[in-house]
Amino acid sequence: MHSLQVMKGDETAYNAFDDLFFHRGAEGLKAYEEIVQHVSTKLTEVFSDFDQPYKGGRPDEVRKAISGMVMATRQGETLRDLLEEIDVPFLRNNLHVSHEKSVAHLHCPPLLSGIAAEMIISSYNQSMDSWDQSTAATYVEREMIAWLTQRFGLSEISDGVFSSGGSQSNYMGLLLARDSFCEKHWGCNVQQEGLPSAFKRMKILCSEDAHFTVQKSASQLGLGAEAVVTVETDHNHRLSIYDCHEKIEMLRKEGSLPFALVGTCGTTDFGSIDPLEELAEVAGENGLWFHVDAAFGGALILSRTHAHKLNGIQSADSITVDFHKLFYQPISCGAFLVNDGRSFQYTNYHADYLNPEADEEEGITNLVNKSVVTTRRFDAFKLFVSLRTVGTDRFAEMIDHTFVVANQSAQLLEDLDHFHVLNQTPELNTIVFRFQPRGIARKEINELNRSIQQQLFEQGMAAIAKTKVQEDIYLKFTLLNPRTEIQDIDAILKDIEVLGFNEIKTRRITQ
Ligand SMILES: *Cc1c(COP(=O)(O)O)cnc(C)c1O
Repeated sequence: MHSLQVMKGDETAYNAFDDLFFHRGAEGLKAYEEIVQHVSTKLTEVFSDFDQPYKGGRPDEVRKAISGMVMATRQGETLRDLLEEIDVPFLRNNLHVSHEKSVAHLHCPPLLSGIAAEMIISSYNQSMDSWDQSTAATYVEREMIAWLTQRFGLSEISDGVFSSGGSQSNYMGLLLARDSFCEKHWGCNVQQEGLPSAFKRMKILCSEDAHFTVQKSASQLGLGAEAVVTVETDHNHRLSIYDCHEKIEMLRKEGSLPFALVGTCGTTDFGSIDPLEELAEVAGENGLWFHVDAAFGGALILSRTHAHKLNGIQSADSITVDFHKLFYQPISCGAFLVNDGRSFQYTNYHADYLNPEADEEEGITNLVNKSVVTTRRFDAFKLFVSLRTVGTDRFAEMIDHTFVVANQSAQLLEDLDHFHVLNQTPELNTIVFRFQPRGIARKEINELNRSIQQQLFEQGMAAIAKTKVQEDIYLKFTLLNPRTEIQDIDAILKDIEVLGFNEIKTRRITQ
């Protein structure tokens, strides 16, 4: 047995765990500096080697490498030794999302300012649920929300809260929509009483191309995924206002109660933006809660050339915006905004130990009242540090640069012989296309493209996405990285051609 309290000379006592925490004592300060040093030394070494988006193994190889790693030791070991040991099985078996040819998903390279902020966030480890666990952070989050609501043109009484991302924000939007409708329509308090008996008549409208979390939220909210009625899209994958009117009329005729309309600002595949101004009108005329899922496209508030595409968003009842996409923040970082802050009454519960009502009377802000989670990270800080140090001008330049590269890529694909591009004039920065040499059967084309995507990844040439459009396989570039240039895209397309024609030869596909 060793004693925990050891007297060290006169007044300073030290404790057996002093080197494990960051604190004012000499051991804590020294240990902190050492771990930061070890981590940065190791990561700079590993990153300097990342000349390809992926240099790791195939799925079964990676699984084996990781299953060989010991998950715990009894005696502990130094961080430096551990980093050495996991270098090959773990550190190098990861996608390098900051590589110029990592252009698959809405998965961004994190800004250095965000990485630095993460160190501060985790060192303080504030929890945003109650004022006494977050103190100054509560007000930073509030100010950041005020900055955002102002940028989005929301009202004087708007409000918001940071969330884990788009899925949670969409869920919150539909939660508030559901509860405010039930209260207005039936005088039903869903928080206390649960759903009213006629809940099966409640319907949510969104486009066919809206994010799947609309259905998922409806299901989690007890309405069922079948409560979501999808509206047709036009040739640009934007919600059709004509069909929206038709669907609302159909629902009214059959005795259903449409209560929410979701507009998407930046669909996941095509980056298309629904006609937000017209949708706001339709919602207003029909008494629908208007939620805008701007998880992807919300970053247009920073753009010089594309900000007008957000017109209409200021009329939304609620907005989803993600910062771990086009705002380049480390995961996770998102926000949920409402035009009328009073709607947060539907997320408010009081716990005597955490956020007693007496606190509110004294003017103490406990942000848990506005959130669907309790313990919550201080993610607002990353956005704050980035907006301050990078500056909104450079943010605009970065985002606008990705739009230029997206348009150049679409043009390049148009000009090439063996490719077919679906969105010649991308609204945001995704390009959906495929390798499609003439005279090859549809089934073979689909298989070719599936195989090309996989080979590009496994051989470390590029990380690109694949998706299904109608029943066909397409490839997709999501051009979030402002360091990606048209030359990178050109090189990927050349690799695709080589891989594609090789595959045709080895499979003896006849043209
Ligand atoms: C990414 C995305 C979501 C989901 O957001 P998460 O942050 O992944 O939870 C929802 N809607 C749209 C349009 C998205 O692009």
